Formats: sequence, structure tokens, C-alpha cells
Amino acid sequence: MKTIRKGKKFPSKPWVGKKVRCSNCDFSGKLEPGDKVRFVSDQRDGDFYQLRCPNCKAFIILAASLRD
Ligand SMILES: [Zn+2]
Repeated sequence: MKTIRKGKKFPSKPWVGKKVRCSNCDFSGKLEPGDKVRFVSDQRDGDFYQLRCPNCKAFIILAASLRD
């Protein structure tokens, strides 16, 4: 496609650097670009990111709005 105007750039991994805490085992950490984080679209409760706790493998949920 020929570019007429360059669109806004969205970070592909806006969750990098976010702190997460596992509610199951109390593990806490800071997200890095290599982490496996899945975007989940949820119309009812709002979009969120989901990852596995590296300690206990439970799901950690991170709100996708990322406004804190
Ligand atoms: Zn955990």
C-alpha cells in the first residue's frame, strides 16, 4: 500500500515494564519484552492481558487499559 499518512504507532508490547503480582502464590515481577503475554479481548469485562505465573503457573491478569 502506498502511504499517504503514517499512522499512529502503537507499542506492540505496552505491558513491558509493568509490575505484576500473582494472587495465588504472591510472586511479583516486572514484565520484560521476552515474556509470553497474551492479549484477551473481553467485551463485557474489558480487555486484559494474561500470562502464566513463572512460580506456580497460575494465570496472572493485567488490565489492558494499563492506566495506573
Ligand atoms: Zn504464582
